[in-house]
Amino acid sequence: MDLLSMVGMATKRRSDYFSQAKTLARKYKEQPILEERMKAESLGLVKGLRDKLMRWEEYERTMLDKVLTSALAAVILGLKDKQTDQKLEKTWPIIVGDMLPPLTKFLAETKEYIDSGVLRLGDQTLDFADADLLGAVPGAIDLDADVLAGVNPEEEGTSEAKQRRAQGQTWPSLADRVSRYLATPTFAFFALGEYMVAQDLGYKEMRRVAREDRKTCVDCKNYDSQGWVPVGEMPMPGKGCRCYDRCRCYIEYR
Ligand SMILES: [Zn+2]
Ligand SMILES: [Zn+2]
Repeated sequence: MDLLSMVGMATKRRSDYFSQAKTLARKYKEQPILEERMKAESLGLVKGLRDKLMRWEEYERTMLDKVLTSALAAVILGLKDKQTDQKLEKTWPIIVGDMLPPLTKFLAETKEYIDSGVLRLGDQTLDFADADLLGAVPGAIDLDADVLAGVNPEEEGTSEAKQRRAQGQTWPSLADRVSRYLATPTFAFFALGEYMVAQDLGYKEMRRVAREDRKTCVDCKNYDSQGWVPVGEMPMPGKGCRCYDRCRCYIEYR
């Protein structure tokens, strides 16, 4: 599916997504729980495709639905019930613009792997449980930015394809990449919801606090060291840093 068809499909179903996102937000209540849940769903989705429980068209549509509803649900959690509908309208173009272009490319690449036999439907030679999937395996939950920091999901796919590395070319590693569309972005979208509330409350200053563990990247450390700046003058978590969706900086307002 090309980007235009993708955006068209999403636009048609916008109000469905809004109500589904509200249900999701009510159900999971906190961003880390939503993220964990979406990681598990990423695994389930890829398993379903591999085991031929769903056809390609259904996989594609489900990916689109889940990417958008999980992002919207994360915004709702960040808003904490403040003018949800009006704010969702405002974030919708941001979510569509951020997520659909890379998602379109990612899906096209997956389809290519399937068509060329790199990913074989029905192939169960590699067990999902053996792979090191972030959070997709019980006991392996790791919400930190990891050693892959420095590569966004889209570039990751491209550079891996060039280097003929395994990432995204085996079913378990595909599940990990899917979670970078469904799960890890919820952190940044949660922060976006909080940002809108802070604006309404009239806060004048913001600061970006890095986690300061060994995985924190140099960009995030720089933002952290700048301290308080006027609201809007500092990029949000996941923006302007090489952690991308894996960034776990949080924003404080005053
Ligand atoms: Zn960073
Ligand atoms: Zn960060």
